[in-house]
Amino acid sequence: MITPAPRTFWYPSKDRYVLFTPDALMHMYQYQQNCLWDREAGGELFAPNPNEDGIVIAAAAGPSSKDIRKRHFFNQDPDLATRERENQSRQGLEAIGLWHTHPQKIPAPSEQDKRTAKQYYDNLEGTKDRYLLVVVGKGGEIPALSVWSVGAAGWEMLPEEHGNG
Ligand SMILES: [Zn+2]
Repeated sequence: MITPAPRTFWYPSKDRYVLFTPDALMHMYQYQQNCLWDREAGGELFAPNPNEDGIVIAAAAGPSSKDIRKRHFFNQDPDLATRERENQSRQGLEAIGLWHTHPQKIPAPSEQDKRTAKQYYDNLEGTKDRYLLVVVGKGGEIPALSVWSVGAAGWEMLPEEHGNG
């Protein structure tokens, strides 16, 4: 696979953003649900600076062997997710979001997806000011990404920055 370009998504307020590195993107792209029999995949997103205005997603992990994966459902195994967080923490990275695939060209999170991500946010007990929810679409070398953030102010959708300016 060709190394993908980084991608940036801005909060509606334009003073905060989320940047995905090529490493994180490549990891997610390979699990696109392009075929009927492809099942959802996902895991957590990791950043070195989860409390700064610009979050850099340096790594995407998962799926693990014990996750529940169906065509329209994904749930990560909590024990293996904890182990993954310990691994990433040794590289200086902290969990800041969940990603998973959908069999949709223009992906959108379900209400259940939002409830799950909100639960992860609540479990942080204020140690981070937000938690991300990313859905990866199907089709093409560069799939559409739907990027959402939940925090004290509720849910925000982050549009992608296009072009060079
Ligand atoms: Zn979903």
